Amino acid sequence: MTHSHAPGGFEPPADRPEAGPGTLAVRAGTVRSAFGEHSEALFLTSSFVFDSAAQAAARFAGDDPGFVYSRYTNPTTRMFEERLAALEGAECCVSTASGMAAILATVMGLMQAGDHVVASRSLFGATTQLFDRFLAKFGITTTYVALTDLDAWRAACGPRTRLFFVETPSNPLTEIADIRALADIAHAHGAWLAVDNCFCTPALQRPLALGADLVTHSATKYLDGQGRVMGGAVLGAARLIADPLTAFLRNAGATLAPFNAWVILKGLETLRLRMVAQSAAALELATWLEAHPAVARVFHPALASHPQHALAMRQQSAGGAIVSFEVHGGRDAAWRVVDACRTLSITANLGDTRSTITHPASTTHGRIAVATREAAGIGERLLRIAVGLEDVADLQRDLARGLGS
Ligand SMILES: *Cc1c(COP(=O)(O)O)cnc(C)c1O
Repeated sequence: MTHSHAPGGFEPPADRPEAGPGTLAVRAGTVRSAFGEHSEALFLTSSFVFDSAAQAAARFAGDDPGFVYSRYTNPTTRMFEERLAALEGAECCVSTASGMAAILATVMGLMQAGDHVVASRSLFGATTQLFDRFLAKFGITTTYVALTDLDAWRAACGPRTRLFFVETPSNPLTEIADIRALADIAHAHGAWLAVDNCFCTPALQRPLALGADLVTHSATKYLDGQGRVMGGAVLGAARLIADPLTAFLRNAGATLAPFNAWVILKGLETLRLRMVAQSAAALELATWLEAHPAVARVFHPALASHPQHALAMRQQSAGGAIVSFEVHGGRDAAWRVVDACRTLSITANLGDTRSTITHPASTTHGRIAVATREAAGIGERLLRIAVGLEDVADLQRDLARGLGS
């Protein structure tokens, strides 16, 4: 792995490539100030001073790699970027104000008017809005295809296709895209593959090692992991990230605040422990739900009944913390489960230590036309749980109340 030399003049420790993921999570990217602090410092400063006019000129010209201004970069955000790059096995990382800013930077950095995106139909709602309402204004079109239908991805490609965009596992049905196969198809058509790695994080899945060109993150979710701050990142080769993506962000201003970077940097230290524990709890809960008489169907990649179980277990080291399930009955039966919860939080957010429950058809997917939503398998009887760190027995008790047993 080569190190990034993105703006900021930050030189990561030379021993980084040899270390395992646990070591990288707590040590990669650390730079100490003159005070020798053990825990990473939070640099709340908008600008940086120069020793001389000549140094100022060299910094602005990019000949001196030191810091200039925190919209460009900041030592705390650089530490976060270097640590996440180490965990994803990426040459380069740029942090962003939110997950949506990461996706915006990807498309604004890489696309021209007239270019074409092929994207999976089951995308985060704001991503679909961004593509359909705003990219379209600038002449960038998007074709949506079924996540698992490789022929559909192939057939959607045209002469101006520049980008494939996919989330895997998908929300809320945890469908799995074959990252290696999609990367091959994208590359055969001269396009890049971007994977939104929000649901797995590098703790469970490393898309770049499977052939993806770019990884986007909502750091708001599992990277922080404790529901505190907004953030995001894009990772990949320096030739894509340093310029044009970083150049776009520096000028557009959707960069990560140092405070948020510091919070998420500390979140990364426990990311692997949380993802392993939350995935195991999710599988335990999914197995229990599958055996429950009031439950019709359960979706979790680590269940043997998952249609792409084998692919998921090849591509991911665990199933992730999202479990969706269908109850017998309709909206009433589903809402009864939600309303009986005392431990699970009724919120559409995910990636927290606290488990959350949501009814996608009336919340996250509520604006989608009924027929389209039903065709996508997101019916009135579907519920989604993002499993946190509570005791599974307590979550079971909470759900059993609404399931009527
Ligand atoms: C939340 C989310 C986003 C957007 O991230 P924000 O930090 O809320 O901007 C993008 N993709 C997925 C899969 C998400 O869950």
